[in-house]
Amino acid sequence: MKKIKYISTKTILLLGGMVLGLAGCSEDDDAADNGEVIITSQSLKMDLTQFEREDAGVFMQAFYWDVEPIGDWYNIISDKVEDYKASGINRIWLPAPGKGASGGFSMGYDPSDYFDVGEFEQHGTVETRFGSRQELEDLIQKAHANDLEVIADIVMGHNSGGGLQANPFRGGDEVFSLFNEENGNASGKFNRTNEHFHPNDIHNNDEQDLFFAETDLCHDQQYVQDWLWGRDDSVAAFYKNTLGFDGWRFDYVKSFAPKWVKAWNDKIGGFSVGENFDGNQQVLKDWVDASGSPAFDFACFYRLDETLDRAHDLTALGEAGNMLRKLDASKAVTFVANHDTEKDENPDNRISYANKLLAYSYILTHDGYPTIFYLDYEAFKGQLKTLIQIYNTLAVGDVEIIEANEDEYIMKRSGSGNNPGLILYMNISRQTKQRVVKTNWANKKLVDYTDNSRATPTADGEGNATLSAPAGSYAIWSITKE
Ligand code: ZN
Ligand code: ZN
Repeated sequence: MKKIKYISTKTILLLGGMVLGLAGCSEDDDAADNGEVIITSQSLKMDLTQFEREDAGVFMQAFYWDVEPIGDWYNIISDKVEDYKASGINRIWLPAPGKGASGGFSMGYDPSDYFDVGEFEQHGTVETRFGSRQELEDLIQKAHANDLEVIADIVMGHNSGGGLQANPFRGGDEVFSLFNEENGNASGKFNRTNEHFHPNDIHNNDEQDLFFAETDLCHDQQYVQDWLWGRDDSVAAFYKNTLGFDGWRFDYVKSFAPKWVKAWNDKIGGFSVGENFDGNQQVLKDWVDASGSPAFDFACFYRLDETLDRAHDLTALGEAGNMLRKLDASKAVTFVANHDTEKDENPDNRISYANKLLAYSYILTHDGYPTIFYLDYEAFKGQLKTLIQIYNTLAVGDVEIIEANEDEYIMKRSGSGNNPGLILYMNISRQTKQRVVKTNWANKKLVDYTDNSRATPTADGEGNATLSAPAGSYAIWSITKE
């Protein structure tokens, strides 16, 4: 066993400069041949578990586009749930579970049979791309044993994979609107025909825009409402009560009215988030008000992408009202990447890998419910585990923006009770930045809980402290344990 040698604050400050030159130096490294360990800023940190919040947890998007190998995904995620739980994740979002028109290749966004979650032979396969019904149920059970909620992706705007049928609402033209036991709906539940799609005897289209004109589901049809969420054996009831899903991620909600999300949630309950693919914060706010459901904060995503990837200027992060989370944090599900943005050829629609952690440092210190994208977690596991722990503990209290300029963004969470809160310092310039900041921490020594900065400044009697952030990086400051 190693002998720990405690050294004075002054020594640590002196060592701070030296340690910078020693790549990978940590308290685990042997600092001297006699087995003594030198204490660096690491050992000054408070034990953050004492601040673990009741409502702690972040969202994990547990897939990416075209996950492989085909048929194995539920088992792959099943092997990860203990680690997700240990990292502070409280919900995992799985792909749309129903059988899609493209069978074993389907990512679930071409729904044909909602009740075939990998048990009927159709579209060339029994299993879905993600596995069998049994593997899905095993995964959900294991997630629940680890206190993780499991969220289903609900694609209820349009259908694919039905049989051809003459459509009187389209002048007798044949369209693929027939879904029954022989035509893409082997389960025999929620069989559909042309009257359940647009146009039909009620109207030509939704109050929202069309998605796929031929098989755009009409939620004004009572039969469609009943099968999706109304009946005791509806899609929603089957997913929640039989399979064990805890909540919903509604796909492409621009293709139907927000009142249908509200109706689903009123009937079945559970966590809910809508994908309203729109960078305008007011569009998002209007949708969460109408549906009662949280939404992904695309406005926050685009502001981060613009400031970090294109403008190279953080000023806009300080502007009022330009994200859903600034208008209504309780309804904002923030994110940095998803299965769509990550495969987008247009760099304006995704945040570059070089800026990923800066973007995560933002969403994992501010209010809103942050989402971690599967591939980002795999790529940046160590840093993201640290940021998630900070979010789950110190990221409490009012958000106060201290500075937002071309190179720097500094934000304070005020804390609450004995929780001291934090100060995020983002720096996108090519040199270390520092600034005297008014903190809530009079006469306290401070440390960066991300380890990006080795400095250990002390706040004076008024709380003023010289904080810093390394070039192209971030630091998250709070008080030390003494
Ligand atoms: Zn309709
Ligand atoms: Zn970009």
